[in-house]
Amino acid sequence: MLQLYDTATRDKTAFEPLEQGLVRIYTCGPTIWDHAHIGNFRSFLFADVLKRYLRYSGYQVHHVMNLTDVDDRIVQRVGEEDVSLQEYTQRYAEAFFQDAEALNIEPADVYPRPSEHIDDMVDLIAKLIDRGVAYERDGSVYYSISAFPEYGCFARLDMAGMRDGARVDTDKYDKDDARDFVLWKAWTEADGDVVWESPYGRGRPGWHLECSAMSMKYLGQVFDIHTGGVDLIFPHHQNEIAQSQGATGEPFVRRWMHNEFVNIDGVGMSKSEGNNLRLSDIGGQEEVEAFRYFAVTAHYRSTLNFTSDALAASKSALGRIRRLRERLSQAGNGESENAISEAEMDSIARARDGFREGMDDDLNAAKAMAAVFGFVNDAEKRIAAGGVDAAVAMAGVDLLDEVDSVLGLGLDRVDGAEIKELPPELEGLLKQRDEARRSKDWGEADRLRDELAAAGIEVRDSPEGSEWSWK
Ligand code: AMP
Ligand code: ZN
Repeated sequence: MLQLYDTATRDKTAFEPLEQGLVRIYTCGPTIWDHAHIGNFRSFLFADVLKRYLRYSGYQVHHVMNLTDVDDRIVQRVGEEDVSLQEYTQRYAEAFFQDAEALNIEPADVYPRPSEHIDDMVDLIAKLIDRGVAYERDGSVYYSISAFPEYGCFARLDMAGMRDGARVDTDKYDKDDARDFVLWKAWTEADGDVVWESPYGRGRPGWHLECSAMSMKYLGQVFDIHTGGVDLIFPHHQNEIAQSQGATGEPFVRRWMHNEFVNIDGVGMSKSEGNNLRLSDIGGQEEVEAFRYFAVTAHYRSTLNFTSDALAASKSALGRIRRLRERLSQAGNGESENAISEAEMDSIARARDGFREGMDDDLNAAKAMAAVFGFVNDAEKRIAAGGVDAAVAMAGVDLLDEVDSVLGLGLDRVDGAEIKELPPELEGLLKQRDEARRSKDWGEADRLRDELAAAGIEVRDSPEGSEWSWK
């Protein structure tokens, strides 16, 4: 049974959607002021695997991801470049879709943008004013935190000790309480042409409002899962809860799920560190696929430390599973001897159970992958020891394809060239063996030949040197 962690309760509980068979999910998407970086993509990959595993578990999924196209940085850039907001943000929206496709992220059903939902936000503000949780001041509208007693519970804040900190809205307008946050910002010169009419005057919506208005518009007042990175717990998601529950008086999100951050070489990602890597900075398509492997095979609630060694290790592990799948699929084309060994089928069944058990445990992909590698090791040994029966091989391919439907690793993407490439550790053994032969250490050369054979590599020696092939 699927158990998922909920940030609201800080607990893992059994997952049940509101409507039988259908899961409604909202994800805080990218702010399209610049290119999304690999940390942002971890967040979207997490949502992608969540969706894929829910589908694998028999649910239909309806997924909404916003593209934030109104925020201070965008307003500033639009002014500097003297282009329209649409023109400015469109290039980053396009780059985001391209990167998401390269990462094999399944598209959301809807990608709403705040600039196209001003009316929905204005309606929400009207409801909040009506219910006495928001007030107008000099053409701006603020949320009155003191009118929403639960404020701070979700983020586990000590409200009494909370000051007007950098993460909270710190604009200079006159608010009743320094902690109140803005819902509608009156126009200032710095906003230039980024401006809309409202009953409160010309201005633009505050950032937190879009996710309340657009999630409820597309998913209903109450929906199943809301995702985002841990940095959004406060103030963004706390404010969403205040806005939505303040307007409807009803519950809002049934389960909040947050991914941990990506660090680079042990350092947090930031503009000032100059390590806001985007996908194209880490390499070509091969590295992008290795990055997906790296991100989705770790547990989403553990911090990921991205290094070039980690990327190389992911590339090698991914290549190893792809090669095994290819060899199994070739073996699957052969004759079935109808003498399928129970041990072989057991190894597949155990791996499938272990994979599901890991994923059912709050999407613990690291645990799930340990079970898959149990099968990979077993299957490699069996192939090395004389091949596998065609029916067993096909069952192995089916297992790997099932895993792939959840993790989206493109395990069937092996071409002839790749299968001719040796994993680095085996390449090392082959080199050591050539050395041993050169120094006529035949005992060591034979020992290394056996070691390579156990990993599925056949070595043939000739006067010109040695050649290898997969057994
Ligand atoms: P943004 O484009 O800043 O609105 O962020 C989009 C998503 O990326 C949000 O869910 C953030 O929480 C998430 N995010 C930002 N930085 C990182 C990071 N270094 N690692 C993981 N997720 C991140
Ligand atoms: Zn959001």
